[in-house]
Amino acid sequence: MGERQRYRLRSRSNREVIRTVDPDAVYVDSETGEELEVVARVLPLAPSPSDLPWAVEHLRLCGCSLEQLTPKDLNDCPHCGRRLPALEG
Ligand SMILES: [Zn+2]
Repeated sequence: MGERQRYRLRSRSNREVIRTVDPDAVYVDSETGEELEVVARVLPLAPSPSDLPWAVEHLRLCGCSLEQLTPKDLNDCPHCGRRLPALEG
């Protein structure tokens, strides 16, 4: 379950990290040592049944007439409740 909201953090040299954040913590890029700033919340908004970021490589069509995008780590479509077919591979 994606209970905690994840954020996109960016450094001055435009390196990006996606992670949960603690509002009192300071995050630095592990390679450059630059401080990271929160620039966006990552979809789906928490709490969500999915742990995957809302990105095309993690989505598929649920297969019903609603033709909604559904995270690949779910067993049931969050839009229509139908059981999703098993993924290949
Ligand atoms: Zn559906």
